Amino acid sequence: MALFEVEGWNIKANNVSYDSANAKKENKKKERKVRAKRANERRIEAIKNAESDDEDFQEHAEEAEEQARAEEQAQAEEQAQDEERESVAPETEEQAQSEDRKTSIQKVEKSAKKKANEPKKANEPKKASKKRSAEKSEVGGDPEPAQPAKKPLTALQQKMMAKLSGSRFRWINEQLYTISSESALELIKKQPELFDEYHDGFRSQVQSWPENPVDVFVDQFRMRSKKPVNAPGGLPGLPNDKKIVVADMGCGEAQLSLELRNFFAEANKKSKRYQKKNCVVHSFDLKKVNNRITVADIRNVPLPDGSCTVVVFCLALMGTNFLDFIKEAYRLLAPRGELWIAEIKSRFADREGEEFVNAIKLLGFFHKKTDDTNKMFTRFEFFKPPQDIIEERKAKLERKQRFVEVETEKEELETKRNKAPEGKWLLKPCIYKRR
Ligand code: SAH
Repeated sequence: MALFEVEGWNIKANNVSYDSANAKKENKKKERKVRAKRANERRIEAIKNAESDDEDFQEHAEEAEEQARAEEQAQAEEQAQDEERESVAPETEEQAQSEDRKTSIQKVEKSAKKKANEPKKANEPKKASKKRSAEKSEVGGDPEPAQPAKKPLTALQQKMMAKLSGSRFRWINEQLYTISSESALELIKKQPELFDEYHDGFRSQVQSWPENPVDVFVDQFRMRSKKPVNAPGGLPGLPNDKKIVVADMGCGEAQLSLELRNFFAEANKKSKRYQKKNCVVHSFDLKKVNNRITVADIRNVPLPDGSCTVVVFCLALMGTNFLDFIKEAYRLLAPRGELWIAEIKSRFADREGEEFVNAIKLLGFFHKKTDDTNKMFTRFEFFKPPQDIIEERKAKLERKQRFVEVETEKEELETKRNKAPEGKWLLKPCIYKRR
């Protein structure tokens, strides 16, 4: 089929003896180009649709991606057949040159393709996986299949793939902020790949910030470790052996654990024997992406009561029932143990986080400080008072006749939580903007 026809040309062209095979080949090439262009346009269309609605986008993106893939596949097969017929040398110079590029691009493409299929997976898992296995069988079970003649993505295609991943990240992010912690654990158990996609996006978000909150926490450990454990200004340790036991709740990839291990190992090398510090970090999250992590819903982690001295929530108050996580921290902490929280500023309805601090105080913590100096997140420190201080405070409130008032406030908080989970009114979901 000719792309366009000018009367008389076909006849001439057909009769040109110099290279009718070449002419055919040229025509085929042109056709392929046009089809590739169409496939691209469909992808662009899908990206545009994303601007209006993420959910719609998932559908559009998947359809467009499938069509585009099908066309590319057909082209690739056609091209492969042509090449076979012509017994072309297995690898041209150009192909060889672009091999490195291809490998990395295929990675992007592969994950983006996976991404385009994911949201539907929950409802219609069969269709997408069928296609994937069909593609796999084409290449005869190669574990990391070089898709037949898959072309390197153009810059525009790569940009679109990045957009697709961005949309996927925002979609998963929104899920985690709008469901209970129990459902989040279920979701990641069923679709563990969502966790990886989430963290790809999360990592790139945090990299664009002036400071990563994990680094700020590491600095806190660094600074406070200059003083003896349990001394004023020093880190809190267990009363008997001064062991610093940290629970990193919603640890992500457990960066905190890694950094603290390295830091204390280095610091201990240089310290005198009596100054050496023993620090252990327990890291909890919904997926075990490395050996430092224990899978658990952070409302209920497998550690005994009073066994920790610092509990950290670094951007991890995600489930709608996040006050349950704070109650869990209270259970885990030894008296004088500390609760460290960093949360995105935009989550606080009152900007300063005063209402948030009050809720945590009602759950039994004493507020130590709020650090508002960072542009993206606010950092809070609380501690669990020892029993004698609790008694003392109670007596003081009773003298001032305020004890009943506080008890009533606690009840009110629970009543409010029963009506609507705190994820709906105390902290807003963190919504990342399109970039
Ligand atoms: N603290 C890490 C990761 C922050 S992202 C850091 O700052 O780098 C928030 C993390 O909380 C995600 O990894 C998410 O999986 C985890 N998370 C959210 N709800 C959770 C729950 N109920 N139980 C365990 N982890 C949870």
